[in-house]
Amino acid sequence: MKMLDRESFIQELGIPLTKARDFSLYDGAPYECVCGQWHSFNQFTGRAFGSTGASAKFLVECPNNKNAATIIKTKNKYIILFDKFISIAGHVDGRQ
Ligand SMILES: [Zn+2]
Repeated sequence: MKMLDRESFIQELGIPLTKARDFSLYDGAPYECVCGQWHSFNQFTGRAFGSTGASAKFLVECPNNKNAATIIKTKNKYIILFDKFISIAGHVDGRQ
């Protein structure tokens, strides 16, 4: 995971998905947070962003630190089966 400043982080995020999709299959899956810990994904707190192919990209806030955000992306197995989350980038407000 790379640490980015606010501007690069937002650039990396890209375009938010406006269409509501069911992401419940990812619920409870662990992801590595920018804070160094692992948290469980929650479809109601993760915000979806545009991604390529069959993968999904999310912006997730750290449950322990509101100023810490991580961009995670799904990695699939056999193209369609969800395998795991990969952390792409992180940003912590006030620490650059
Ligand atoms: Zn965290």
